[in-house]
Amino acid sequence: MSEWWDKQIQRADYLAPRANGAKELLNFYAHLLRAQRDIYEFLRSRRGWLPSGELECDLPVLLDALPEFLKAIQSHGPESLAAEAHDLSETDTQVMTERLMMYWRNSSDIQFFEKALLQPYLRWVFCGGNPQVSFLKNKETTAESGNRDLICATCLSSWEFRRVVCANCGEERPAKLGYFHSPEFDHVRIEACETCKHYLKGVDLTRAGFAAPIVDEIDAAPLDLWAREHGYTKIELNLVGV
Ligand SMILES: [Zn+2]
Ligand SMILES: [Zn+2]
Repeated sequence: MSEWWDKQIQRADYLAPRANGAKELLNFYAHLLRAQRDIYEFLRSRRGWLPSGELECDLPVLLDALPEFLKAIQSHGPESLAAEAHDLSETDTQVMTERLMMYWRNSSDIQFFEKALLQPYLRWVFCGGNPQVSFLKNKETTAESGNRDLICATCLSSWEFRRVVCANCGEERPAKLGYFHSPEFDHVRIEACETCKHYLKGVDLTRAGFAAPIVDEIDAAPLDLWAREHGYTKIELNLVGV
């Protein structure tokens, strides 16, 4: 039942030692994914319990997974996150309850602990948040072009989306949509919109079928630098803050 998580972890473990500019981020993310897989398994293995979809009701169960998660971040996170995890582990869980409820009502991509804890929960419940990354894959029906899917930044589910349209504002005039490639990352590109000045990355699975979009997206962090330097804002930062 955690095959999806295992696939992300394997990909992060594979890319980290080969990484081109994002080695530390990938190493951390590999640990983070393991901690999230543990949360997911913890939730799914509760006998006689199913998520209601109302965070307020499900929170007590999710918070049971908090201590182990904080330990993992203390051991493997970058200094600032490790320190915050330590502080949180000594804070009343009421504080985390309030933070999670606030995030639930109005999510933000700079709230690491809220987002990291809720992703495994939402992976099960589905939410409808901002896209993190897009990917192209061959489908039997349109094998010549490949369709585009988006992966939700919050719950990590994917959904089909038209190929030539901005995932942020809906712009669909091709002249307003730009793509940036770098030879170092053959299967990853920046998909940018001139109208709203936002972008996300796209992973082309027709070139690298073994890629895991949310992991390869981190491996290609140098592309984000290019996008920022050219005045684009990412639709949603990923869990390691890129
Ligand atoms: Zn979602
Ligand atoms: Zn746009």
